[in-house]
Parts: sequence; C-alpha cells; structure tokens
Amino acid sequence: MKIKQRLENKELMVYRLLNSRNKLLNEDSTKLARLEKGFKGELIFDERIDRLSKSWLILNDIQLESNETDFQIDSIIVAQKLLLLFEIKNHEGDYYIEDDQWYYMNGTPLQNPMSQLERKELLLQRLLRELGSNIPIESYLVYVNPNFHLYNAPRNPSIIFPTQLNRFFDELNKIPTNISEPHKKLAYKLVSMHKSESRSNIPKYSYEEVRKGIMCSICCSFRLEIKKSIFICKNCEGTENKTTAILRSVDEYHLLFPERKITTINIYEWCKGIVSKKLIQRILSKNFIAKGNAKSTYYDKKEKLY
Ligand SMILES: [Zn+2]
Repeated sequence: MKIKQRLENKELMVYRLLNSRNKLLNEDSTKLARLEKGFKGELIFDERIDRLSKSWLILNDIQLESNETDFQIDSIIVAQKLLLLFEIKNHEGDYYIEDDQWYYMNGTPLQNPMSQLERKELLLQRLLRELGSNIPIESYLVYVNPNFHLYNAPRNPSIIFPTQLNRFFDELNKIPTNISEPHKKLAYKLVSMHKSESRSNIPKYSYEEVRKGIMCSICCSFRLEIKKSIFICKNCEGTENKTTAILRSVDEYHLLFPERKITTINIYEWCKGIVSKKLIQRILSKNFIAKGNAKSTYYDKKEKLY
C-alpha cells in the first residue's frame, strides 16, 4: 500500500517551468537534465516495486528532520520485521573508486553515495527512536541504469548494481509483510512529519523576467488560439479545456511566485490577457477560497493533504 506518492519534486517542476518560460542558463539546464534523470530512475524503481504487489507500506520521496538536520529519502518500505530505506541512482557510464573516494571516469570526484546513505540511515534511526520505535533499518543504494559500471566496486551487499536487480527484487518479494496497526501508525506518523522542500536549491529569478502567457500543456508552446471553450496549440495541435488551462497556469504562477497574491488582475496579467478578467474571476472564485474584502479580494489554494 502506498502511503505517500512520489510527485515530481518542487525543484524539478520550477526548473521545468523556468526552462519553458525563461531559457535557463547553461549550468541550470545541466541541473534540469540531472533532476529529470534522477526522477526517471525513481520511476523505474517504483515500477519494479509495484510489480511485487506486497502488503507492505510504501513512503516515497519523503523529507524529514532529525537532529536539526533535513534529509530526504527516495523510498521507504515498512515491512513486518524491518524498515527498508532506498537511495535510488540513475547514473550512467563508468565510475571508479580509489581509496574510498568515488570518481567519474574523467577523474572528477563525487560525494561518496555510501556515506550519504549511512548518514541518512543514522538520522532516520534516531528519529524512529524518538518516536518510540526500534524497528531495524536495512539500507540500500540501488543503481537502476543498465549502462552504469563501477570499477573497483566494493563487495558491499548494500549496493545493488544493475546486473543484480532481478535477484534483488526476487529476494525482496520473499520478505514477510504481515502489517499490523503499529506499522501503520508509524508510517502515517512519518508522513505527517514530511516537510515541504526548501527553495534553497532553486535558481534566482524575478517576476519581470519570466515569460507570461498560457503554455500548451503538451509542447510548452505559447502559440495558442481560442475556439469556444478550448485552447488549440498552433504548434502541436493539442487541445485543452480553457478552465483546465487557466487553473494549470495559476498553479504554475503559484509555484514560481509563492509570495505573490493570486488575484484576478494578477492572473489576467500572467495569462497575458488571453481570456477576459470576468472569466478568470469566475474560475478563481469557483476553485479557490476567496479572502480579503471586496475591493482587494485574493484567492488561496484549498489545502491539499500530501
Ligand atoms: Zn503544443
């Protein structure tokens, strides 16, 4: 049972939007490509886990705090006798290890993923102890990309290489998953402690420099035309219902500028006047909670749980 879904994380979504609305600088496009790749790797892992259809509890992409330190875990599985912690890597190409230090083939060092994993395990263990649980943790670093190779790889059973994936999932399939109330309580407690990501990794940008207008949901083109209640993209011919497209644009606006108020006039400007203020006001009042007085009404999102 999935207790917490994996969503594209905020950082990735902001990078995607900036890329479409505001050409990213070189280093930022590299970062976007890395985030996309990491996310894809996580989906590959999820797909393998889902195929096992066990009754364990799955918590994906969870951001926690322990010992005044924030840490993120790609996947947690609560099973009957243990809690599994997974760090998923979609690295591709050749890497090597020398004196415990990991390197890209060109000699550039990278942060030792095993130390990162151990650190996360310690932080999680501490947090679990504070919650009164002494369930043992087993941690794994899982490489999902078949084109990954590590020279001088240590004989460490916590690292799962692409050629070991099938056997690893077979083994996972054997673990007992008779879940009881305390397991569920613990899983929900962890989800309730999930913190939304900080924006510290996100590049700086201003409202003025970000391109306004409604984008096609398929190809991100701004060349849309209106035909009655739908938008038609002149680039890919994709169509989208007007209301859906406006709500999606409000979401994008809110994600990029959480500090700016959602008002009729602001959204009208954000959509570059492609639809009337009257329609925007109607959509906002129907889908958001109106706040403030009549003259300065702004809208708040209805709270989503996770
Ligand atoms: Zn399109």
